[in-house]
Order: sequence, then C-alpha cells, then structure tokens
Amino acid sequence: MIAGIDLGTTNSLIGVYESGFPTLLADQHGNRITPSVVFYPKNGETLVGREAERQRSLHPDRTISSVKRLIGRRIGEKGTENLLGNKGTAASITIGDRILTPEEISSEILKKLKSIAEDRLGATINRAVITVPAYFNDAQRTSTRRAGELAGFMVERIVSEPTAAALAYGLDRLADQSKVAVYDLGGGTFDLSVLQLDNGVFQVLSTHGDTQLGGDDIDEAIAELVSKKAGISVSSPAATSRLKEAARAAKEILSTADATEVRLPFLEDNRSLEISLTRAEIEQASAPIIRRTRALCMRALQDADLETTDLDQVILVGGSTRMPLVRNFVKEIFGREPNLSQHPDESVALGAILQGAILEGNLQNVALLDVTPLSLGIETFGGLMNVIIPRNTTIPAKAGEMFTNAVTGQQGMRISVLQGERELASDNWMLGSLEIPFPPSPKGAVRVGVQFSIDADGILQVLARDTSTGSEQIIEIKSAVEVSDEAVEAMLAGSLEHAFEDMDARIFTEARLKAEEMLPAVEDALAQLGSDLPEQEVAEILRHAAEVRAALVLKETKRLKLTIAALDESTQILATKLIEKALKA
Ligand code: ADP
Ligand code: MG
Repeated sequence: MIAGIDLGTTNSLIGVYESGFPTLLADQHGNRITPSVVFYPKNGETLVGREAERQRSLHPDRTISSVKRLIGRRIGEKGTENLLGNKGTAASITIGDRILTPEEISSEILKKLKSIAEDRLGATINRAVITVPAYFNDAQRTSTRRAGELAGFMVERIVSEPTAAALAYGLDRLADQSKVAVYDLGGGTFDLSVLQLDNGVFQVLSTHGDTQLGGDDIDEAIAELVSKKAGISVSSPAATSRLKEAARAAKEILSTADATEVRLPFLEDNRSLEISLTRAEIEQASAPIIRRTRALCMRALQDADLETTDLDQVILVGGSTRMPLVRNFVKEIFGREPNLSQHPDESVALGAILQGAILEGNLQNVALLDVTPLSLGIETFGGLMNVIIPRNTTIPAKAGEMFTNAVTGQQGMRISVLQGERELASDNWMLGSLEIPFPPSPKGAVRVGVQFSIDADGILQVLARDTSTGSEQIIEIKSAVEVSDEAVEAMLAGSLEHAFEDMDARIFTEARLKAEEMLPAVEDALAQLGSDLPEQEVAEILRHAAEVRAALVLKETKRLKLTIAALDESTQILATKLIEKALKA
C-alpha cells in the first residue's frame, strides 16, 4: 500500500487508497490535519502537531514551524536570513546543544503521519508519495525525499502539489477535455499551474510560483497592524509568537465574520493588548501580499499561450483561499467565478493518494505529464543556441536534428548541451558536452545526428551519431527538468531584458557566417576568372570584399548585411562567367 502525503509548510495530511476510494486518515482525536510543527524538549520525547503547537508560546526557541521554507536551502539563500552558519552551507537549526537539519525536522512530521496511518490501519506502511510545490528545485526535492527516507518510507514519487490538486479535481471528469488553472495559496507558498485534462491524461502546460509567499506573510502583516493599532510593540520571542498566533486566529475568523476581538493578556512587560479588528482592516493589510500573485498568474498563462477566457475552470486550493479577499482577487484576475469544488486543505493530499494508486496500478486510465522548465538545445558552429526541445514541452519528449561539418578537414564535432532562453550559446547554461570524432572530410560531408530524449523522471539523454561510421556517444543529464525557481525566473527575465540585443547578436552571427563563407569563395573565383574580367569590375569586387571585412572587424550588423548584399550583387557576373566556363568545358 502506498500512502499519499501532503507535507505542507503549515499543515500536513496522510491517506491511502482503500477499497476504491482515497481516504484521509485521522489521529485518535479525529483530526485529519497535523500542524507541521515540531517541539524538541530539553529531555524526553519530541512532540509533533497540535501537541507541539501548544508548546510554541511557552518554548518558542524549542518549537519549529514552517521548516519547509528551509528544506534544501543553503545559508545565504532566501528564507535563511535569521540562521547562523557559513554562506553556502546547508541550512540547519540549533536547539539547545543539538544541531538539526531541515530534513531531520521534516522527518519527525513524516514519522508522526506514518504512525497515525499505521494506528488507523493496523498495518505497517512503508511506501509513500510526497507532494512539494511545483517550483521546488532539485535540492529541495532531494531533501524532501531524504526526509521521507529518514522517516522509514520508500519514497515512490515526489509530485507537484498543483498537479495533485488537479488530479483530485479531474478524477471524476475523466472523459472531459478541459483546461484548468490551479491557484494554490497555502501558509508558505503560492503556485499557479495551468493544466490540460484530456480523456484521463493530465498535462501541465505551465507553472509559476513563489516559494516564499503565503498565509504566514499575511499573519505577519496583521500582527504588525494589531501592534500598531494597540500601540504596543513586542520584542521577546514568546510575545512575538503569541501575537502572530492571535493574528492568524483573527484572520481565520474574519474569513466568515466581519469583526472580531484580539485579546492578549500580559503580553509583555505586564502590558495587555486588547483591540477590535474588522475584515476591512485586515484586507487592507493583506492586499499587497495577495496582489503579488497576479504577475505570476499572468506569466503562467502567457507560457501556456492562453488567455484567461481559454480556461474552463480556476480551481482554488490551500487554506488561504478561504479568505474572501483572495476569492475576489482571483475572480478579478481571471474574470470569472473561481471553482470551489475542492476542499482547500485536503485536495493536495487526495491527489497524492491517487498518484500512489496510479503507481500501484489501481487506477489505470490516468496519466500525469510534466513539462520542461527551460529550452534545451546545442551550440551551433557560430556560437548560437539551437533549440531542440523548447521550454514547456511535455515530458517524456524526444527530438533530434542533423548537423554537418562546417569546415573542410574538421576532425570531429563537439556537441555542447545547453539550457536557457538566450540567443547566444554563451548566455545559456552548459549542462554537459560530448565529442564525436570523424576522419577529416570536405565541408558538409559528415552528417551527425543528435537526439535529445527526456524520460518520465526528467532525465535527459543526448545521443550523437556519425551516420556514415555509425560511431556514437551518449551522455545523461539529470538537471534538465528540475531547475530552481530563481534560476528559471532569472533566465526568463534575462531573455526579455536582452531580447533586442540577442536578436541583433543572432542576425550578426548569421551574417558573419555568410561573410566567412563568401569571402574565400570570391577569392577563389577571382583567381580562376579574374583575367577574363574588365579591370574595373575586379577592382569593384575587391572593394566590396574589403568593405565586408571592415564591417566584420567593426561588428556592425547593419553595415555587415549591407556590404554582403553589395558584394553579392557585384559578384553576380562571376557566377555567370563560372557557369559559362563550366558549360564550355
Ligand atoms: P500549507 O499548504 O502551506 O501547509 P495550507 O493549505 O494548510 O498550507 O494553508 C494554511 C494557511 O491557510 C495558513 O496560513 C492558515 O492561516 C490559512 N487558513 C486556514 N484557514 C483559513 C481561514 N478560514 N481563513 C483564512 N486563512 C485560513
Ligand atoms: Mg499546501
């Protein structure tokens, strides 16, 4: 049996597929949701979930929440500002005299979920599917997998949360053909994914998100509002955590009520806090945070090449989508009522359970597909990017192209595998390279086939084969699909920022290659025919050739193109003569 687990920043859930149904499993108190909080006492047993939450304001320095924000992170990266340690080393947390890694802390949450499931089922469960935000990078996914292993699970698959939510949504609509967006705003992360559902096939068309945007940020904004309104600022960790908890509680109440009271007796220095708070006030404080989701939604739509009107549904998931402000905002972005059919807290876990059932073969008519986050290609002779598999291609994918040798006497071809959206090879990332040797041959005589294939696990295999000798080389690249969100964003931003320069660079390079081909050919022809031509015309051709050379040195695209055209025109007569001579012979 494979358990499905939503290991959330704030809350975690576990369930299994039982007699044809995905079933979430509750603890002995009937709670299906386990807060992702871990308490490490001085002596005794580590506590997880509600029991740990209760210790938070008593022992804030021994209680850890939102550890997911640190998993797979290094000191110096986003989210690690308050941690000690040398830049570049893996993030860790010190409690008393213990140094804990985010993997270890997450594994405590997973152990707790495992024991809840095992108690309920009366059986051991040691296989699991665990969800992560779509934008988790390779290191974050690997660390999550490691946490699962530390908890005693064989981790069968790491699945993106919005994909899981779409699976939960789409299961009873298997015959449908539709395009849906999943808007997931939880405690710590935001994701928007666009998926296409087509007769049981789920295809991710695009996804964008922010691993540092969610309800926690809203809580902080409200806490600030509360302390400002009350004229009390707190400094101790215990008071800060009580204030934040109160802010969160008020926020959740105000999703249904219009007003509430915040009461915190003896908050700090014997001072008590007591104020009333309205929905309108917290909406004003949280709007700037929620507004940040708009650009990410727009980008995901753009990548999927869709307009808001092309979507059939916008599905809301994640606890923070209970806020009326979020619902209104989504309605405004997408110009339609959002789909509230999914349980905001449970759909991701349900999807994980369903994914487990698919892996076990219990659900056969469903398939889940993923996409490449950035384009993959190779460096051309002139130093340009030649895209073989474009960005946002569904995986598994396969594509290839044939290349010939650009220079006579060349003794091999170096294939550099690139990832990125820039026109010049050197602006993209080099993932690896391979070398295919061949005997020296005339230009264009050697044909090398290059094939890219990405399997369902995102592993890229590049094969290069010399078609005449049959000799081939293969490399395997693991990092072709799992790229960090920052890196993808930086690459996309770079390609937009440099769009004009890049285009110019490509045109110049193409013109340069043409010039480099033409100049020796013209010299050759003049050597053969020069004496048959009027002196004046020879001088004209030589002048144009010199101008092409000058434009090459000056690296001026426009000038190069113009001089090439002029040279081309003045050498027409050479071409005619060459043909005449050939005919005579
Ligand atoms: P995660 O996926 O990050 O673990 P969840 O999807 O469980 O998070 O959502 C947790 C967030 O949802 C928290 O910030 C919590 O305050 C918020 N939340 C839960 N219920 C409500 C509610 N009724 N109104 C507003 N926010 C809520
Ligand atoms: Mg979640």
